Amino acid sequence: LLPLSVFKTGRYVLTGFIFFGFTLIFQPVFGQNIKPLTLSDIAKEVPLGHQMEILEDVHSKYTIHEVSASNFNDQFKPYREEYTYALNPDSVYWIRFYVNNVSHQQKKWVIEILSIQMEDLEVYIPSGRKDFVRHQTGQHHPFRIRDYALTNFVFDLPDIRDTSYPIYIRIKSPTGIGIEGSIKNQAYFTSYTTNEYFFLGLYYGFLIILIIYNILLMATSKEVAYLFYTLYIVSCAFVSFEYDGLGFQYLWPGHPFINHYINGYLPWFLFIVGFIFYAQYFIVRSYQYKKIYYVLFAITMVDMGLAVVGVLPEILTYYLFMLPLLIIYAIAIDDYRKGAKANRYFIVGQSFLLLSIFITISGWFGVLESNLFTVYSFNAGVVLEAIIFSYAFIDKYNITKLEKEKARQDVIDQLEENKVLQTKVNRELEIKVQERTLQLQQEKEKLNNANEKLEVLMAEVNKMNSKLDFDNWHLNKKVNEVTIARIRAQEVSFEEFTKVFPTEFSCFSFLEKLKWENGYHCLKCGNDKYTRLPKLLSRRCSKCLYIESVTTATIFHSLKFPITKAFYIIYHCSFSEGKTTLDELSSMLDLRRNTCWNFKKKVMERLADYSSKDKNQNSKWEFIMIDR
Ligand SMILES: [Zn+2]
Repeated sequence: LLPLSVFKTGRYVLTGFIFFGFTLIFQPVFGQNIKPLTLSDIAKEVPLGHQMEILEDVHSKYTIHEVSASNFNDQFKPYREEYTYALNPDSVYWIRFYVNNVSHQQKKWVIEILSIQMEDLEVYIPSGRKDFVRHQTGQHHPFRIRDYALTNFVFDLPDIRDTSYPIYIRIKSPTGIGIEGSIKNQAYFTSYTTNEYFFLGLYYGFLIILIIYNILLMATSKEVAYLFYTLYIVSCAFVSFEYDGLGFQYLWPGHPFINHYINGYLPWFLFIVGFIFYAQYFIVRSYQYKKIYYVLFAITMVDMGLAVVGVLPEILTYYLFMLPLLIIYAIAIDDYRKGAKANRYFIVGQSFLLLSIFITISGWFGVLESNLFTVYSFNAGVVLEAIIFSYAFIDKYNITKLEKEKARQDVIDQLEENKVLQTKVNRELEIKVQERTLQLQQEKEKLNNANEKLEVLMAEVNKMNSKLDFDNWHLNKKVNEVTIARIRAQEVSFEEFTKVFPTEFSCFSFLEKLKWENGYHCLKCGNDKYTRLPKLLSRRCSKCLYIESVTTATIFHSLKFPITKAFYIIYHCSFSEGKTTLDELSSMLDLRRNTCWNFKKKVMERLADYSSKDKNQNSKWEFIMIDR
């Protein structure tokens, strides 16, 4: 608690310095002589000004009889502005001033105190020569106890003329004892009050319309920005309630405790927070400032914390509340300079608001002379700002619409351009495809021509080949036939014979011709279709798959020595009729005598069966070789 009280003391000292400074700058030092307020026929309003004296009642024990007694006279000191703030919250203060009514037309006068934040106020007005009548009022009491059902504190003055009489005001109010007010003649007072209520009615009517309008906008557009703007307007209304007291009069007349919250920092706090939220939605290009918004909230929170603890002087607390607004203002201007045109009306509106807040706060704390202008500048600022912001909404909407329209047009242009390009590309492709198709067709034709030529050529070649083959075959056949005929005509040696049948294959070949010259017939099923097998000119029946080798059903079946030698033995036997001896044959053929004899015997047996009437040598060979 000690540091806190040190802080609080420091706060009072600091406040004292600030006001001492302001006093030097703005106000001349007052004279010590207190003059009575003179009510004349020509005056309609006489301000209390500083023609007042003040007395601190530290223990709250004095009565009106005590303070109005002559022995208390010297204890009153001239009222000064700085006393209003450097006050001891636990003390009761007595204010005294004198009235001298010198008017002679039967005018009634009232005293009106504008400092409606006072919590507990007792006004002592003499009714006769010496008796004081107590009138109680203040934010601490229900509204109904007031003499006049008005937000300002109003009391009738007695009909005492041409003599000076005192009025005492007993104040118990930790929120401040700054007394502002005046004495007004009733005619002026009535018209003044009516006008004031009329303008306040306009102001609140305007706010109500704005609230309803924004709620409807929010309902239709589903944009949260309108909700924040509505909250902001509501907080504006609560800020206004603090100094015009209409909330207390009409909304909660029986619940004075609400005034405690209204007269604190809370409405300002809500006002700033609402504004920060709202501005965040409004300022178009400030998304990069998101972090700054957190900083703004932090500043507001810290300021609120300091205000609640009471470390800072009140006036500094209020000025600090303006800091986030100023930062937002700077951001909006910066954005505007970077091309966010939609910010222009926002900036103008906020200029009015900031100015009006500065005037209001300064008016409260006496930095500026408190008057109608300072008291209601906030209302004017809010109204001007709201009108301009409404226009800013439309402006922003128009700008956004234009931008959207432009973007849409850009898209359409781009699409059209794409279409043109597409068509161009398609046409080019088509031409390319056509060219290529033509080229391919030409190539194909060339190829076809070449193929045709080739085919003709091939046919010719084939024809020639066939002819050549045929000629060759004829030639070969002739050669063979000649040779065979020659060897048949005379006996030749084996050596010579082998020139005609040089290999086993030539023998098999001869045998094949001999066997199947007149067509193939399967030995098992008689089928005449076959496939050739690679091994030794064998044939396989295509029906029963019987494989017939070239030696099957011939004398050469299961022959144990080379067929070329067997051929020679047959030749020898059929030609020479056995002139050569077996020994000669076996040595000539390099065969064992027994083998030679066995085969020769087989040949001779077949030769014996051969009918002598058939003298064809060829048939003789066939007869010997093929089984019957
Ligand atoms: Zn067969």
